[in-house]
Amino acid sequence: MAVFAAPNTDGAVVDYESRYDHYIGGEYVAPAGGQYFENPTPVTGRTFTEIARGTAADIEKALDAAEGAAPAWGRTSVEERSGVLLKIADRMEQNLERIAVAEAWENGKAVRETLAADIPLAIDHFRYFAGALRGQEGGISQIDEHTVAYHFHEPLGVVGQIIPWNFPILMAVWKLAPALAAGNAVVLKPAEQTPASIHLLMSIIGDLIPPGVVNIVNGFGVEAGKPLASSNRVRKVAFTGETTTGRLILQYASENIIPVTVELGGKSPNIFFDDVAAQNDAFYDKAQEGFALFALNQGEVCTCPSRALIQSGIYDRFLGDGVERVKKIKQGNPLDTETQVGAQASNDQLEKILSYIDIGKQEGAKVLTGGGKADLGGDLAGGYYVQPTVFEGDNKMRVFQEEIFGPVVSVAKFDDYADALKIANDTLYGLGAGVWSRDGNTAYRAGRDIQAGRVWVNNYHAYPAHAAFGGYKASGIGRENHKMMLDHYQQTKNLLVSY
Ligand code: NAD
Repeated sequence: MAVFAAPNTDGAVVDYESRYDHYIGGEYVAPAGGQYFENPTPVTGRTFTEIARGTAADIEKALDAAEGAAPAWGRTSVEERSGVLLKIADRMEQNLERIAVAEAWENGKAVRETLAADIPLAIDHFRYFAGALRGQEGGISQIDEHTVAYHFHEPLGVVGQIIPWNFPILMAVWKLAPALAAGNAVVLKPAEQTPASIHLLMSIIGDLIPPGVVNIVNGFGVEAGKPLASSNRVRKVAFTGETTTGRLILQYASENIIPVTVELGGKSPNIFFDDVAAQNDAFYDKAQEGFALFALNQGEVCTCPSRALIQSGIYDRFLGDGVERVKKIKQGNPLDTETQVGAQASNDQLEKILSYIDIGKQEGAKVLTGGGKADLGGDLAGGYYVQPTVFEGDNKMRVFQEEIFGPVVSVAKFDDYADALKIANDTLYGLGAGVWSRDGNTAYRAGRDIQAGRVWVNNYHAYPAHAAFGGYKASGIGRENHKMMLDHYQQTKNLLVSY
């Protein structure tokens, strides 16, 4: 067991600054309004850093810096930009433990996940787009004997990016890597709950990027996010967050007629067909693990498998085994490498999850395990911990229909394939889904018939950089990951040349 930072140290052992200004034009800049706000660590609930409170004036300053830097960055060679991305990846790898520990401290997530998944995935993302950029091609077509059409990719210019708190580094990198590869300058607003991790990252990689190409403005949604998303100086807005906020982002973008990607909420079904339990073997065990993954990242994942649908023939056995597995999940200090489930990212999120647990109980869902706040005692007593919770109920209930964004799964029974697909698709959302079956035909059909942008078949929660990710329905517009993102951060110029 390794514990990276004792919770009673108030963050002194992790290398966060006690105060973070904005990062604009390659320098730290105090907020125009002179205001700061305090951020607690979810591990203990105690304040550990102060953050500049951004306003429209700070956004304007960042846009000035980005507009100044964008033309030269956009004209750099493909080799040069690709090389910068590779150097960023190497620098992150050299500092992996430092970044991973800091993010666990700020967000409350388990350090074993940040070490093994979040930060390595972010590093790979930079490498992937460094390579994808080298492979990008334009096109030439002969129109007639004297005319040729040339297609070029041009950067958009300055783009605005707004991200949530559930994967502070990974969400930033999913947006930064393709935007930078494509030759854009960026103004990014992190979530108000988790800006420190990104500032730590910039202190590690900032010198590799020309000043003004990446600018970070902290602050709250309406005060700092809205001026960025509604600015007529940005050529695209990329947003990840709640569906309600996504609607506002789309409205702002419509005023400026700019492209926008909105990666929004989910209520993902995880479907287990009868044949999963044909044998008590490694496949069954993997499916059981897939069931328990609703608690990964404390359930604060947009694709959290928050609705488990289990076929009637295996229902009692599979659910019984699943509940026993959930009871064994190790919850504790996020900085302990044996901890599987840490703290929720904020007190507001803790309260929201607990209120949904009450709603589930009131509407008649049965609690099979969990069902309340986890009191871990000692220094963790003030932290934001929720017990992994399994509800059994009906897909009409609010705990099946609304995004809770916590370690809570709602389980329902289905009879046959048609029943499973009807329940799975009976949701506002369409982000992720899981299908578990030993029968290739059933698995493939379900993968095809589920209305979701990402369907995991006989696995769950893998996010390779080259697999397109995004939502159907109210889960969003656009995609992330995959080389297609380069197109999303560029515009196509056509030269029609006669000779
Ligand atoms: P949120 O919508 O409350 O906030 C997201 C960001 O938007 C924050 O930086 C916030 O400050 C900013 N914001 C808020 N109001 C704004 C406004 N009026 N104008 C501009 N910016 C504004 O979401 P959250 O609570 O931070 O994140 C959780 C949500 O994110 C969940 O719904 C989750 O499913 C979703 N999410 C989706 C994906 C995906 O890829 N689809 C990934 C991660 C999280």
